[in-house]
Amino acid sequence: MNNNRRKFIQKTGIIAASTVFAPKIVLSSNRLQKKKLGVALVGLGYYSTQLLAPAMELTKNCELRGIVTGSPDKIPVWQEKYQIKDSNIYNYENFDAIANNPDIDVVYVVLPPSMHAEYSIRAAKAGKHVWCEKPMAPSVAECQAMIKACKDNKVKLAIGYRCQHDPNIQAYMKIGRERRFGKVKMITSAAGYFDARTDHWKQKKNLGGGAMGDMGVYALQGARLATGEEPVSVFAQSFTSRPEIYNEVEETMMFQLAFPSGARAACQTSFGIQMNHLQINYEKGWVKMEPHMSYGGNKGSMSDGTEIYLPVERQQIKQMDEDADSILNKKPLIVPGEEGLRDIRVVEAIYKSAAQNCLVTF
Ligand code: NAD
Repeated sequence: MNNNRRKFIQKTGIIAASTVFAPKIVLSSNRLQKKKLGVALVGLGYYSTQLLAPAMELTKNCELRGIVTGSPDKIPVWQEKYQIKDSNIYNYENFDAIANNPDIDVVYVVLPPSMHAEYSIRAAKAGKHVWCEKPMAPSVAECQAMIKACKDNKVKLAIGYRCQHDPNIQAYMKIGRERRFGKVKMITSAAGYFDARTDHWKQKKNLGGGAMGDMGVYALQGARLATGEEPVSVFAQSFTSRPEIYNEVEETMMFQLAFPSGARAACQTSFGIQMNHLQINYEKGWVKMEPHMSYGGNKGSMSDGTEIYLPVERQQIKQMDEDADSILNKKPLIVPGEEGLRDIRVVEAIYKSAAQNCLVTF
């Protein structure tokens, strides 16, 4: 697409190129939905503060009604900004009392990954639906326990994979499904950024840090979503250029995946290198996405000249509205707990391969 056309599209919001990818205007039942779900955010760090809470204000189906925090100084700031009642404020100790609070329908866990299972399970036992950030948890066993707790307590469990709600990502998933260019042969997928912090949970093993769980799941999802398959084997290697900081977890992970159809993927993730691209080579063509995992502006091109470019105001608005719609209207979730588990199964194998320098098969 030339620059003038791109500018025109950005300015007017008109959707690009192929009508194949034009979003359908669906008057869904939630337009008529009066009830909003009350959401409590657990953990008021970067993602809750900068992205989720502001996006929740713009949703149709959700309302930020509660907070769970270990930092008392944050309470007046959040109360003033979001008009949160005193009775809807919890800390990590009294959190289970949320069971008796009819204002709260959903607990959204936005803590370091090592804490996801504990707070998701406590929320489920309190009878609340659970939304949990990625990576779902550091281990398969924890993911399974989360799924079981939600099933046992008859609540839904959604994982915060915002990209799966993005029509640009759904577009390349559809190309693979419909075999527009034949079968997938090779995927190259990368997700990383330079993290200048030196003492954060992302650098601590016991808190679930490491590039693989944090950014690597986007590279992995690129390959899984493009093929629509689960890998049958992985080979991985990790390294660091800053051993003084990354002495417990990897700064960079490179991993190869083999899929049942014969498709292969070469993936990279890092806390030391900015990377955000995905290339899918099929029997008869290719798709290139860059960026492929940003909060907005994901876009791509195809070997037949078609562009993928569907502006999304904010993925988090769409994600939370669609997850709430699933609860309100009893529809399947776009990203249920089982999908988070599929990634962690591969992540565990990647760590095993890197540690033992061997091919791991499933
Ligand atoms: P953050 O460090 O900014 O915030 C973490 C929060 O957890 C803080 O409020 C902190 O006080 C609290 N916390 C409680 N106990 C803690 C402990 N023992 N150690 C450290 N913090 C503790 O992290 P973040 O970037 O907001 O990430 C939180 C979660 O959100 C992670 O799972 C992360 O992967 C996810 N996330 C997702 C996206 C996305 O695009 N979906 C983007 C950013 C973060």
